[in-house]
Amino acid sequence: MRGAQAHPRVHLDTLIDNQAFTEPWMFFQEHRICPVPFVRFNVDSGGSVHCCCDIERESPPELGLESLQSFGNICDESYLSLWNGDKIMEWRWRVLNNKYEGMCSDACSKKHRILSGSPLFPHKDLVTWRHVESIVEHGVYMAELPGFVQAKGSRACNLHCRMCRANATTRITDEESKTNGILFAEVLPEYIHSIRVLEIAPAGEVFFHDQANRFLEFLRDYDTENLSLRVVTNGILLTPRRVTWLEESDIRFLHLNVSVDAATEETYKKIRLGGKWDVLMRNLAYIKERRQKRCWNNRIHTTLSFVAQAPNVHEIADFARMARAMGADAVNFQRFGGVHMPSWNFFVSRDPVMMSELRRQLRDPVMSEPWVLADQLRRSLD
Ligand code: SF4
Ligand code: SF4
Repeated sequence: MRGAQAHPRVHLDTLIDNQAFTEPWMFFQEHRICPVPFVRFNVDSGGSVHCCCDIERESPPELGLESLQSFGNICDESYLSLWNGDKIMEWRWRVLNNKYEGMCSDACSKKHRILSGSPLFPHKDLVTWRHVESIVEHGVYMAELPGFVQAKGSRACNLHCRMCRANATTRITDEESKTNGILFAEVLPEYIHSIRVLEIAPAGEVFFHDQANRFLEFLRDYDTENLSLRVVTNGILLTPRRVTWLEESDIRFLHLNVSVDAATEETYKKIRLGGKWDVLMRNLAYIKERRQKRCWNNRIHTTLSFVAQAPNVHEIADFARMARAMGADAVNFQRFGGVHMPSWNFFVSRDPVMMSELRRQLRDPVMSEPWVLADQLRRSLD
């Protein structure tokens, strides 16, 4: 239990006394404890490990917490030693003591939900009684393995979209290749049985990486009955062969998020350089066909994503209609946040013509349907 003794048990001994929690997450809610450091493990493209994403955490120099910006690197230390390493235990200790200030960014929506007592408590489904027992028993040492793993893989991508925030390139660096090898060929195969949610959301494209492809191809050989797999992709390499890999595995559920950003080929070509509209449409049509034949047995949820920007703002409502025709379960609209193409970011410039078009699109009746997620665009009108 390396380093655990360095962290006093604080108020934990009395945390569950005289309190009747009917669900384990209520224990976290009652004590304003963010469950993330107790359930989640993120590995970024260079192998650096954390439990929270970049925008969720901060470290003003005066607090001297910079060393907690990374808990270590998956290429240098084992999964188990990182999961209960000194740094993550320090992070947990601060969370258990509600010391969020200066460590957790105000941009972290989970922090707001926890501190405001919101019923939308994060990771409700991932915390179990064993987590509560482990906290009461061991404090910052977590006996349970991570239930949620986010694997970023590498920044390499088959496309070179003009507005890409990830600075994706078609070249996989040696460092990324090493990280991918350890992550997809060693760590995930060994621990997949203990992971309940695996999110493969690379800064680049998941199906562009050989090691990720191999892992997904042989997913059927692993114990994945309890696994929900979340995959974010641009869809071009999501060929019928790859869909078959996923379909033939035992995974409990697949959440597929396909970034499209256009309702027509003309607009797609302007935004998603290197992509082929006909290939994307064919791949999406194949998934729809397999679902219609009930091959997925309700084990799949597909979302088509659209980042609103100057070249596509006039296609917002049509995109929702297209997604419905393609059999998507949800369509998710986000506002453009990139800095590379300021002329496309009318949310910052408040270009009156673009803002007026956005208003017009949001008034379309299809945009009010419950499966259309456009709150972020609506908020940008304020
Ligand atoms: S409040 Fe946010 S930044 Fe802090 S531990 Fe939770 S998820 Fe991470
Ligand atoms: S598909 Fe995504 S990661 Fe790839 S270049 Fe486009 S925006 Fe970047």
